[in-house]
Amino acid sequence: MTTRRPFVGGNWKMHGDLAGAAELADDLSAAMGTVTRDVDVAIYPPVPYLQAVGHALRGSEIRLGGQDCSPHLEGAFTGQTSPLMISDLGGRSVLVGHSERRHGLGETDELLAAKVRSALGADLDPVLCVGETRDQKEAGMAHEIVGNQVRAGFADLDPEAARRVVVAYEPVWAIGTGVTASPQDAQEAHASVRDLLGSLYDSELAGQVRIIYGGSVKAANAAELFSGRDVDGGLIGGASLVVDDFLAICRAASPSS
Ligand code: PEP
Repeated sequence: MTTRRPFVGGNWKMHGDLAGAAELADDLSAAMGTVTRDVDVAIYPPVPYLQAVGHALRGSEIRLGGQDCSPHLEGAFTGQTSPLMISDLGGRSVLVGHSERRHGLGETDELLAAKVRSALGADLDPVLCVGETRDQKEAGMAHEIVGNQVRAGFADLDPEAARRVVVAYEPVWAIGTGVTASPQDAQEAHASVRDLLGSLYDSELAGQVRIIYGGSVKAANAAELFSGRDVDGGLIGGASLVVDDFLAICRAASPSS
């Protein structure tokens, strides 16, 4: 169990409709109770529903965030969403480099580094998603791939900016598949990201950055997956759409659970 303040994010992806998004946010804020005293909880609805979900979260400690942002703050960028716009709608964080963008849409390390910087420029906390594919894992390249993704994502960040980044280790083969890393493998991957941050900055900073696990986390496996000392919570896809499941996962991340 972590000594940092845990973080649990719910990535709603491209699911639901306007009424359902507002209702889910309402239900979550009613159900969350005191969990947010011990755990930072954020939800990432589809962009068109950010405002409605933000309204539903009024008075709640659950944070609002975007699933992606532009590497630019403003300008002629058709179809993109400025991090300033997410912030304007009450957003406090943004996912960067989710595998469905990194691998699904071919987003590069360089582009993602620019998104991390633009998010920070809009005062959003970036959640930098990293993780190896099955082929890369089978080729024994997982550490190298994840290390390169982390190095690129933190490029040019000063320590103050780096501390704001949450790293989400999400092995691509575990996302939406029902297969998870073992708790031992997750802990090992997280420890290696932390070591790398120690070498890029220093051990004090590395000890402050939160590294969360994503990939088929469910109510039934969350406590075990979060048990490693370098695992500071989770990024949750499918299970974040079900109030009781997401709540149980947030509780599992709490030090008082
Ligand atoms: C995700 O979308 O980041 C994710 C981990 O999805 P799931 O929990 O459904 O595997």
